Amino acid sequence: MAPAHWRTAEFISDLHLDPAEPGPLAAWRNYLRTTQADAVFMLGDLFEVWVGDDTMDEPGSFEAEAAAILREAAQHRALFFMAGNRDFLVGPAFLQRSGMTGLSDPTVFVFGTQRILLSHGDALCLDDVDYQKFRTISRSPQWISHTLSQPLAARRALGKAMRAESQKLKDSGTEYADVDTAAALRWMDACDSHWFIHGHTHRPAEHSLQVDGKAARRIVLGDWDQQGWCLSWEQGVFQLNAFPLD
Ligand code: MN
Repeated sequence: MAPAHWRTAEFISDLHLDPAEPGPLAAWRNYLRTTQADAVFMLGDLFEVWVGDDTMDEPGSFEAEAAAILREAAQHRALFFMAGNRDFLVGPAFLQRSGMTGLSDPTVFVFGTQRILLSHGDALCLDDVDYQKFRTISRSPQWISHTLSQPLAARRALGKAMRAESQKLKDSGTEYADVDTAAALRWMDACDSHWFIHGHTHRPAEHSLQVDGKAARRIVLGDWDQQGWCLSWEQGVFQLNAFPLD
């Protein structure tokens, strides 16, 4: 539930921040310094990969730098983080150090008179059966605690291997599954939400729908590969904007 004095909320996702890609990192830092929003929601895949909060303890690490950037921004506005399929190992230590509030997926954000459903979006890509199986396994407390108990070097290597694997898939021109519309409608209906904001698919768009006989929208955020994307919501008016990364 948003405090009554909030006027503007902004939503970003799929930045896939990575030390090897300075462009999105610089654009994100600049965005956090200049935005005037009362609240910024980061809806998953903020990081290309996250292999444990202890990465922050390595002096000069990328993860420590990211925490410092967030901490500075958190002094001026509320920051929210929802995990995506790349950064679901972000834990309470990172949230605390960076000054963000963690959100579970999905979450209903009540803003003014609206109930806005927020999700990363991967849980609705039902056609990708293999991924849904992996998702179920990898979100179990057993899988997470087993993975996080590996030495950091082994986790860094695992992260690198997963990144290479997904790059291979991308290069092969594989058609990725999209959000299942019927399932999205069921979620919206169950939450009594006429707005749904998510990312993950890298298919930025505004879809008009009907929920419970009333006009509704599903807004898909874009990834920060070729350009940056931000959805701003000001007093019930929303705008999905793209901007250059340099
Ligand atoms: Mn994703």
